[in-house]
Amino acid sequence: MVTADAVLNTHTNDEHNPWKNAAIRFENAAARLKLDDGMRKILKTPAKELTVAIPVVLDDGRIEVFTGYRVQHSIARGPAKGGIRYAPDVSLDEVRALASWMTWKCAVVNLPYGGGKGGVICDPAILSPTELERITRRYTAEILDIIGPEKDIPAPDMNTNEQTMAWIMDTYSMHKRQTTTGVVTGKPLDLGGSRGRPEATGRGCLYVTRESLKRFDIAPTDAKVVIQGFGNVGGMAARLMSREGIKVIAIIEVDGAVHNENGLDIEALMKHRRETGSILDFPEAQNLTSEEGFRLKCDVLLPAAKENVITSANAASLNCKIICEGANGPTTAPADQILADRGIFVVPDILANAGGVTVSYFEWVQDRQGYFWNEKLVNERLEEIMVNSFYDVLKYAREHTVENRTAAYMLALDRVAFAIKLRGLYA
Ligand code: GLU
Repeated sequence: MVTADAVLNTHTNDEHNPWKNAAIRFENAAARLKLDDGMRKILKTPAKELTVAIPVVLDDGRIEVFTGYRVQHSIARGPAKGGIRYAPDVSLDEVRALASWMTWKCAVVNLPYGGGKGGVICDPAILSPTELERITRRYTAEILDIIGPEKDIPAPDMNTNEQTMAWIMDTYSMHKRQTTTGVVTGKPLDLGGSRGRPEATGRGCLYVTRESLKRFDIAPTDAKVVIQGFGNVGGMAARLMSREGIKVIAIIEVDGAVHNENGLDIEALMKHRRETGSILDFPEAQNLTSEEGFRLKCDVLLPAAKENVITSANAASLNCKIICEGANGPTTAPADQILADRGIFVVPDILANAGGVTVSYFEWVQDRQGYFWNEKLVNERLEEIMVNSFYDVLKYAREHTVENRTAAYMLALDRVAFAIKLRGLYA
């Protein structure tokens, strides 16, 4: 057993390094599976890492050079797949971790993909739409050789959206001299996007939360949920859960939290944020600090924003039965043990938030078929995959007497290792 303390220096901010956290989870699962040394080396080494300079003329005429990354962690089970994020604090280690999580995520839900991720160091809050377009197009041109519908298929992630995907698709298509919709997923509906894609990650969280509640004999209408993050994942999860009668009693954002024990009116809260720019000071709710939000008593805590929000510093003070990880990497490795000791039921990120990439897969299939499904079919197929994968992981956990996260990693590693063995090594 690899302990977090043995790998991380918890006195520095190592606990916040996603690649180190990914390594600890990987080593634990590999040891349990008794994977040989050679296979471990293959599985933990990213297959390809590209760093590019992105020179762009800003609106005021100045030239700025941004840095972009695309990491393909694995292409063993199919083309690399994963989003692109824009943020000031993007780092290569973060993108590496996120790429590896895509490999394991696609394997857990059994999609025919490897894993990849991209990132551009920039602050979208201070960039205009035209600047963002120029950054996106130049970044796409720089990574053009390694992406493609059969190679590596980007998608939205933090601070990127349908419009970003449309620009990438257009830039790629202009270079290839033919419209190639299947090069990205998460596109607008009118450009080969899929129905249900914007809601997919939140919807997947709803399905696994519903199944988790059954284990505690809690009826959805009796359940109380606290959600951190109110963007694409958290906002959609909140909306879909409240429509099912689940009480979303608090939303936590960076600037604070709002709380109403009887359940928040999510649509009204969305309107309030649109009008005021913040969730705070929402009528019929009490303002709290973010830390107080995390300590609220609830059945389900759904972190749906960034990495490293559940750490060794706050894991002991959480007051929930279930954690459903809507974000990638919201829990650090040292926090895992604390949650396990406290008996908190964790639906790990590589399972809980796989709804997004699952509908991305549906989108890619529809693009290749040139035949588009209705939303009912998308949601039914998503539900089937999420629920089956949830029980696959639980069964694995029971059979191997491990926590859900280790079980999900073991299942994923086993599937990817099997593909590598079948393919053999090209020399
Ligand atoms: N960015 C999402 C994730 O982290 C979606 C990736 C995709 O659809 O390829 O899972």
